[in-house]
Amino acid sequence: MHELSIAMSLVEQVEKVVREQKAVSVPRITVTVGQLSGVDPEALRGAFPLAAEDTPAAGAELVVELVAARVRCRACGQSSTPTAPFLFCVGCRSTEVDVEAGRELYIKSIEVDVDE
Ligand SMILES: [Zn+2]
Repeated sequence: MHELSIAMSLVEQVEKVVREQKAVSVPRITVTVGQLSGVDPEALRGAFPLAAEDTPAAGAELVVELVAARVRCRACGQSSTPTAPFLFCVGCRSTEVDVEAGRELYIKSIEVDVDE
């Protein structure tokens, strides 16, 4: 399962941050997932507790921020938000478009509690 391996690499990053900052707990992790990234946000949410089991990330809240697909038209120059996965210009229906947003897949933030 694609999302499980993503969740596992996410947990690895969290473990690294926890080690570096000597954190005692991880209340929240925020990831940014583009509509065109090929990652199913629901599957990622479902896979996360499995990947986080017996790690410092266990019990953390996983916040998934979705980024809608946005394309810029090469014909008319307009930016628009088509319905993924069909990428065309909403203005002139041209399919000659460049993707401006929607391919994102990254960790936005890892919140940790540090024992003072
Ligand atoms: Zn256009």
